[in-house]
Amino acid sequence: MKNVLITGGSRGIGKACVYEFCKRGYRVFFNYNNSQSEAEKISADTGAVMVQADISNSEDVINMADYIHTNYGRIDILVNNAGIAQQKLFTDITENDWDRMFDVNMKGMFLVTKAFVHDMIINQSGKIINISSMWGITGGSCEVHYSASKAAVIGFTKSLAKELGPSNICVNCVAPGVIETEMNSHLSDEDKESLCDETPLFRIGKPEEVAKTVAFLSSDDSGFITGQILSVDGGITI
Ligand code: NAP
Repeated sequence: MKNVLITGGSRGIGKACVYEFCKRGYRVFFNYNNSQSEAEKISADTGAVMVQADISNSEDVINMADYIHTNYGRIDILVNNAGIAQQKLFTDITENDWDRMFDVNMKGMFLVTKAFVHDMIINQSGKIINISSMWGITGGSCEVHYSASKAAVIGFTKSLAKELGPSNICVNCVAPGVIETEMNSHLSDEDKESLCDETPLFRIGKPEEVAKTVAFLSSDDSGFITGQILSVDGGITI
């Protein structure tokens, strides 16, 4: 049975990934930061193992890795999903806002990947799936720090795919469009309607649809795919 770690599994897309991977018979580990009661419900419901860790904090990440390695062994598949967003005019973004965005969305991905990549290198096999965003491809107005961090995720994915290919580790990226999660709770009905108008499939996506794509990129069915950015966005970026 393969072990998969999903970061940010307590809500939204990460939560959908926990359910999808459990359904497919993987042994699932997920981390949460603040949403303890949500995490407990998911863990009780699915049997997935939960770990508290702020991924931007290297000590938390090392403790999480120690806990998993000591009690369960290696991770075969890593889903770097945890992330934060913020909407602000560029001129209002503070240095703190900027640092927090990159600490979670980019440094967190670096720390978690570093903590588990040895498992895959030693095993000469593995899958890493990073969650970017359509804004990392197109750039989003009033989300410069978020968009820049998600563009960095794409550069990280491609570079790591080149470096880890010889170790038979595939590194890919999923770039969701507008997905129905709490991250988009700030959107008004009007905002959502106009986003749907811009989307060829004319609707907002579901977290489960992203989770199924992540599961595909984690499976043997995607064995010759690496360094790719797969959009799950209803066509909004075409
Ligand atoms: P969400 O509903 O806000 O959930 C975010 C998840 O990330 C939560 O489980 C949260 O944990 C976790 N998290 C946040 N900061 C963390 C930290 N410092 N350490 C550990 N975990 C942390 O967001 P979502 O919509 O599911 O988004 C998931 C990913 O998809 C993000 O990377 C996001 O940028 C990306 N994405 C989302 C959309 C969208 O439309 N929803 C579109 C494109 C890309 P706690 O609640 O426990 O703190």
